[in-house]
Amino acid sequence: MFEVVIGLEVHVQLNTKTKLFCSCPTSFNHTQNSNTCPTCLALPGALPVLNREVLHKATMFGTAIDATINRTSFFDRKSYFYPDSPSAYQITQLYTPVVEHGKLEIDFDDGTQKTIRINRAHIEADAGKNIHEGDISKVDLNRAGTPLLEIVSEPDMRNEDEVVRYLKKLHSIVRYLDISDANMQEGSFRVDVNVSIRPKGDEKLYTRVEIKNINSFRFIQQAIEVEVERQIDAWEDGVYEQEIFQETRLFDQLKQETRSMRGKEEAADYRYFPEPDLLKAVIDDEMFDSASDIPELPDAKRERFISEYGMSAYNASVITANLEMAKYFEKMIDEGASAKNSVTWLSVELQGRLKNSLTLETSPVDAATLGTLVKRIDDKTISGKAAKDVLDYLMQNDSDVDSVIDKLGLKQVSDTGAIEKMVDEILDANPDKVQQYRAGKEKLLGFFVGQVMKASKGSANPQAVNEVIKSKLA
Ligand code: ADP
Ligand code: MG
Ligand code: ZN
Repeated sequence: MFEVVIGLEVHVQLNTKTKLFCSCPTSFNHTQNSNTCPTCLALPGALPVLNREVLHKATMFGTAIDATINRTSFFDRKSYFYPDSPSAYQITQLYTPVVEHGKLEIDFDDGTQKTIRINRAHIEADAGKNIHEGDISKVDLNRAGTPLLEIVSEPDMRNEDEVVRYLKKLHSIVRYLDISDANMQEGSFRVDVNVSIRPKGDEKLYTRVEIKNINSFRFIQQAIEVEVERQIDAWEDGVYEQEIFQETRLFDQLKQETRSMRGKEEAADYRYFPEPDLLKAVIDDEMFDSASDIPELPDAKRERFISEYGMSAYNASVITANLEMAKYFEKMIDEGASAKNSVTWLSVELQGRLKNSLTLETSPVDAATLGTLVKRIDDKTISGKAAKDVLDYLMQNDSDVDSVIDKLGLKQVSDTGAIEKMVDEILDANPDKVQQYRAGKEKLLGFFVGQVMKASKGSANPQAVNEVIKSKLA
């Protein structure tokens, strides 16, 4: 029996306005090579200057994962040649990173948690992009010099499920901190997966294989599955030593296999040395204090929702798992909506209607509007069923809740006089059923309620209808 051992390196692109060592904008969806200057083009003589906002954001992250923050950290030069890196080296932090020895709790569905240790988080500069068009390759350096935070876990994960939970938690933390937009498709949250196997019970680490840049949770799961299978097969066939060695591999989604990309360089191959063009990075008291004052994080928010709103642990996790959802929910509460109905109307009804790549942020129904709708359900102005029609209408048309309720004539009738009249009509029309009910066939109550609701086109308050029928038939 084997145990799987996984450690992750995640490159998070920090959402600073300007690049790490120059004042070029970080928005790289502009004309190719337009957001560049002598520094990020690595022209001779241009010198880097540290963007302090990067240090601030890295410190916030360190605070969030309960890490040691090195008030003085240093930059190092990692040499390698690649066309999208004109300097032929990358500035990173090898020896003294800004953040070390943190931890992150992952949550399981049964409410238990597991701690994943984070070895370090260091600042480094991103490279540009190579664009391959037919026979020619072009280089776009708009991204060169963009700040990254590389977050390196200890090899503490044991299966794909733990990996995905770790990544989702990490993703949610950087979003809550607002230090990155963490968009996986656009490459601002890039994951390298290190995988090895070992016989169960063995404490030592075996050879790891690194799988680079997989851009969705689903592909990460698949990549781990096929790589583990490859390693186990090699072991069982007695060719583990020959076939499994430290290297970087790529995941091929179509063929569902990992393929060798390059042999893994040892640190010595990179000729690391302290970056001579930069001063040490010092976090002064002012920066430290302001960066330590971080927003409420997902775990804390979840606990607060449980205690403040009596939410189930499951619902609280759903609502706090992503920042947009938590913000949306809190705006509904501010609007005066009940927590219980807000959870359902947000996580089930609205979410179910967000199609065609609509998100909570681009939803045609905003939080204040959905909050008002829930308020009208809370105070029984409309039934839940009618509210679905209102929501359907608002997804398609620009209007407000009360106008739509009027327009569609959905106001719930709770006025007993009106309900009594409808009940009388139904009872008169069904004398045989009334007799049967009185003779003991009490389940006919549902039939009568149904008929009255139908007659009212769903606008009668079902609870009131129930009571009136019961008293009339008693
Ligand atoms: P490099 O930059 O060479 O990839 P790092 O030390 O930055 O090296 O990252 C190593 C990553 O690999 C860490 O996430 C670590 O937890 C993980 N790792 C190390 N050894 C193993 C192993 N035997 N099996 C799985 N993961 C491992
Ligand atoms: Mg690596
Ligand atoms: Zn620049």
